[in-house]
Amino acid sequence: MDFQPSEQMTVILDMVDRFVDEVLIPLEGEWLHGDPATLAGEIEHARERVRQMGLFSPNHPVELGGLGLSMVDHGLLSEAMGRSPLGHVVFNAQAPDAGNIEILHRHATDEQRERWLRPLVEGRIRSCFSMTEPELPGSNPVMMATTAVLDGDEWVIDGQKWFTSSADGSAFAIVMAVTDPDAPPHQRASMIIVPTDTPGFELVRNVSVMGHTGSGHASHAEISYQHCRVPATNLLGPRGAGFSIAQERLGPGRIHHCMRWLGIARRSLELMCRRANERPISPTGERLADRQVIQHWAAELDVAIRAARLSVLHAAWMIDQHGAKAARDEISGIKFFVADVMLRAVDTAIQVHGALGVTDDTVLAYWYRHERAARIYDGADEVHKTSLGRHVLGRYRS
Ligand SMILES: Cc1cc2nc3c(=O)[nH]c(=O)nc-3n(C[C@H](O)[C@H](O)[C@H](O)COP(=O)(O)OP(=O)(O)OC[C@H]3O[C@@H](n4cnc5c(N)ncnc54)[C@H](O)[C@@H]3O)c2cc1C
Repeated sequence: MDFQPSEQMTVILDMVDRFVDEVLIPLEGEWLHGDPATLAGEIEHARERVRQMGLFSPNHPVELGGLGLSMVDHGLLSEAMGRSPLGHVVFNAQAPDAGNIEILHRHATDEQRERWLRPLVEGRIRSCFSMTEPELPGSNPVMMATTAVLDGDEWVIDGQKWFTSSADGSAFAIVMAVTDPDAPPHQRASMIIVPTDTPGFELVRNVSVMGHTGSGHASHAEISYQHCRVPATNLLGPRGAGFSIAQERLGPGRIHHCMRWLGIARRSLELMCRRANERPISPTGERLADRQVIQHWAAELDVAIRAARLSVLHAAWMIDQHGAKAARDEISGIKFFVADVMLRAVDTAIQVHGALGVTDDTVLAYWYRHERAARIYDGADEVHKTSLGRHVLGRYRS
């Protein structure tokens, strides 16, 4: 098992690190405080530079214009992009588009590829994924109330969804709906592409999360589907295959999040150490970094981040060698382990920054608000621990 990047990958990682440091991090202040309209222009400019570097949509197969990376290389790249919250958006590697691109690539018809997949990969449109419902447990989505009924050559969709991330401004949603209520539970639902300008698609509100109502890419929408009619040809993949396709999407999606979280953890440690080295703590010229407690935090986080990185790269290696199904336990393990390390890194860095840490003058408070959800989405901690724990106990059952 060798995680040494190739020469070409070393060059790419260096380019991304420099781009994040020199272009994206300087934009963060304006992004946290500034005028979204001004910033939209700057982000588009940065995206154009990434296109010119040949690194736009890097995580996709070569036939889609991506770099055709192994999962291990994807992990290394994602950590580098994840050091800024603008990274994945500017490189066009952001959720939920990345996952939607993967399932469209595998399951879309030629017509769907032309209309939805191509502009998504080229970064001309955005998309969202609409599965979770407010009244039923997202942890067990076979309990789903949204229905799609075939009426002639159209699906008629009715239901209520929420936490459809990025719906605001998206061109289309991939909607999970029950199409076959009498089938076995895991074959009842299908995926259907719904353009967001379809009559009956109503974005009720962008849900306020931890005191902030995001917009555009940073939003989480509640959506009402009321007699929403789309052509029967908008079915994505086979009828009744919604859950199996969702599983295909969520497996790699989980490791993508873990890779991004490593970038957040690394940057939090960087910010924490820089602050501790500079901040005077006594009139005799001592710095925060001279205190043993801070040194212990730095040591503990450094080791935790390295352990998390190796666990993620190992899970990525398992996927590269044996496929996502064989790596199920490794993915479950890193999903809760890396979320915990990342949240601890953000929290400790805030503590070292004192009052500054809870302001929006650094990126830390943004991450504290946004990334708490890491322990909930794509499988709550408890769900992954139960799954992994059962398998671990099973190993020792005679
Ligand atoms: C920031 C964010 C973005 C999201 N983006 C999307 C999106 O784009 N599209 C989409 O469709 N959904 C999205 N979601 C929804 C997400 O998938 C669900 O929140 C998640 O599946 C959990 O479902 P729930 O919120 O209904 O919680 P519930 O299922 O009600 O679970 C609540 C809690 O119960 C516990 N629990 C649940 N099951 C078990 C179990 N088996 N054993 C032990 N304890 C358990 C866990 O602690 C869990 O956190 C997003 C959520 C967040 C927070």
